Amino acid sequence: MRPATRAVHVGRPAHEVDEPLNVPITMASTYVAGGDREYGRYTNPTWTAFEEALAALESGDEPARCLSFASGQAAISVILDLVGHGETVVAPRHAYTGTVLQLADLESRGRVATHLVDITDTGAVVAACTDAALVWLESPTNPAMEVADIATIAAAARAAGAYVVVDNTFATPILQQPLDLGADLVVHSATKYISGHSDVVMGALVTRDEALYGVLKGRRDLLGAIPGPFESWLALRGLRTLALRVERSQASAAELALRCTAHPAVDEVRYPGFGGMLSIVLPGAEQADRLVRSTSLWVHATSLGGVESTFERRRRWAAEATTIPAGLVRLSVGIEDVEDLWDDLSAALDLG
Ligand code: PLP
Repeated sequence: MRPATRAVHVGRPAHEVDEPLNVPITMASTYVAGGDREYGRYTNPTWTAFEEALAALESGDEPARCLSFASGQAAISVILDLVGHGETVVAPRHAYTGTVLQLADLESRGRVATHLVDITDTGAVVAACTDAALVWLESPTNPAMEVADIATIAAAARAAGAYVVVDNTFATPILQQPLDLGADLVVHSATKYISGHSDVVMGALVTRDEALYGVLKGRRDLLGAIPGPFESWLALRGLRTLALRVERSQASAAELALRCTAHPAVDEVRYPGFGGMLSIVLPGAEQADRLVRSTSLWVHATSLGGVESTFERRRRWAAEATTIPAGLVRLSVGIEDVEDLWDDLSAALDLG
């Protein structure tokens, strides 16, 4: 099966008479004893359906295991918990703020040492891998839109004995499969494209390493950051249309990137050439704040990857890296008609 078909078909009940086409929402804190399920913090059939579908998308024909979590941040926490006391994590200087904040917190408590890198400088990242226990990549990065050479970095990290993790939230498995590029783990904020409708907070990780899966499942059981059955069902329902949504968002984002490049109010456009995310840089915070207040379709909101187009001036957050321009606005392009999106955006840009 190809990705769009996997997205629709994996994780469904067997094709048997009277079986529903969709997995039911199993509301259960406990199961009759004696089987594999036992308790609602360890497993849930609705999670399992979602996990099978996402694993199949990230890994193709190679067997892989997925674990779903209460949020992307919970999945990130469980992975970072793999790092031994005082060991080094190599991470992007411009990753999602939650990841950067969490690493800074762990470092301030002496738990890990962090080595922040420019992930576009492959030579520098490869050199940093030598003393790392874990190499964290996000590609494209949020919100700088930088792209890493995942295959080269993963090969170097593995040779150094480090785990390689790729946050694949922006690219989605439709456009990038990091496990095929040598990563040990893929992590998602399923809140974004995977669920796709701005109505769920959820996270997930995927790995082909059965032993690593066992360790991480054990951490999830103990730390307890599990998703709700209803959220899992919604995320799976969203996942069914992932390929279509990504295709439309990407086509519109590419078009908007071209048009923004030609607009005199825009100093710089950062579009990696794929995906539905781009960032535009206006001269300063004042112009960017005016832009996000002046549209009717585009909504000023954090988060991304929903069917509706949203945008955000990222430096409104105190935690955002100061190397991100104050006038940078990150655009999450939804599935509306691109001409309506441009009419609304360009009218606001015309205000200067
Ligand atoms: N990774 C990326 C790239 C994100 O953008 C986010 C949230 O914005 C996260 C991880 C964290 O996910 P969540 O908000 O679902 O906890």
